[in-house]
Amino acid sequence: FKKFSNNTMKKICILGSTGTIGENTLQVIASCPEKFKVFALTANKNIEKLQRQVLEWKPRYAVLSCADSAKILSDNLREYSNIKTEVLGGPESLEFVAAHDETDYVMAAIVGGAGLLSSMSAAKHGKRILLANKESLVMSGELFMNEIKNSGSQLLPIDSEHNAIFQCLPFDYASSKSSSRASVKKLILTASGGPFLKTPTEKLFDISVEQACNHPNWIMGQKISIDSATMMNKGLEIIEACHLYNMPLEKVEIVVHPQSIIHSMVEFIDGSVMAQLGTPDMKIPIAYGLSWPDRICSGAGFLDFYQLGSLSFERPDFNRFKCLMYAKEAFKQGGVYPAVLNASNEIAVQSFIENKVRFTHIPEIIDHALECCAYEYDSTIDSILRADFECRKYLTEQIGEKKWSI
Ligand code: NAD
Ligand code: MG
Repeated sequence: FKKFSNNTMKKICILGSTGTIGENTLQVIASCPEKFKVFALTANKNIEKLQRQVLEWKPRYAVLSCADSAKILSDNLREYSNIKTEVLGGPESLEFVAAHDETDYVMAAIVGGAGLLSSMSAAKHGKRILLANKESLVMSGELFMNEIKNSGSQLLPIDSEHNAIFQCLPFDYASSKSSSRASVKKLILTASGGPFLKTPTEKLFDISVEQACNHPNWIMGQKISIDSATMMNKGLEIIEACHLYNMPLEKVEIVVHPQSIIHSMVEFIDGSVMAQLGTPDMKIPIAYGLSWPDRICSGAGFLDFYQLGSLSFERPDFNRFKCLMYAKEAFKQGGVYPAVLNASNEIAVQSFIENKVRFTHIPEIIDHALECCAYEYDSTIDSILRADFECRKYLTEQIGEKKWSI
């Protein structure tokens, strides 16, 4: 584990550096210039923002998803003689920088299935992976965890709930085969319940994209904000927790906790419960992922218990938030079902953003896809990618033909 020792400067590749998690990561790194160096930055389409980041951080590589955008950035950078950054284009370049010999840590912060192959590339090449891209684990959990084991990678969850659980578990949990594992009774994922926890169900049909993205506690990208409003986010996180901590579904429980102060808990067989608390700020889990097993300043605010007053808890309503049920069902079925769950959710959310379907159609589309698209039962990477592709294609056609009319 010398390569992961905290005494040497770590070179970091940030996949999705222009997103919310990417930018928070750069903020944390900015406060520890002696510990971390930015090695590669990547973005989908936002040339301007990536250019600003390149000028500030001077990475060895910058990657854009398409070759044309990469050409524009490369041309723009020519006028800065002090910038030696090499600009690459195309999805293979994401895998290249994630696997690069000089990369020590990979922040996997691309949104959606688009992050699968680059996250997997980091997993195959023995990196410390700071995993924000939960969709890749949902799609390919077993394969992903096997790659981590075989390559000696370190997987540090960045999703706040899973990071909280990581902090609450015994130190030897990951390596221990028996004793510390047997001491865990269940994992308790907290959920804010999103902006529509108490909205009358008949009002949900008319929800706008802006309302759905208006999360009460967290500032996040558009897709995960809508996932929080449908609670599919918590559904994906149940699957994520089962894979990360090798837990059966029955041992992962959800508790609605609207204040988002307790980020998750672990209950032990003796009745003890460990919880991790903090302000709802992703810089906390990001800093922990970067510095583990040490700690560094994250730049997040501190809790004021006198101000907080009280914390509350309630049972999740599986009838109101059907996505929770579909996620559990997909995980139980296994094979390509979780990949279809994820692909159908991505298409449904994108169609809602583009005003092609209603908010309430999102769970209907997922339900339909799980009925119609999950036809294969093995979970090789080829099957997963094919199921993902076929499901997206089928639903795009169905939505185009207005199966779910607005
Ligand atoms: P975001 O939309 O703000 O940023 C997404 C990033 O991915 C951008 O840099 C974008 O350029 C890149 N990207 C998008 N499509 C791409 C494609 N096809 N190819 C290559 N790059 C692409 O999203 P975010 O909120 O930062 O979330 C990123 C990931 O982290 C998601 O998986 C999300 O579930 C997870 N996560 C986010 C939060 C949060 O607070 N924002 C919390 C927990 C987990
Ligand atoms: Mg989360």
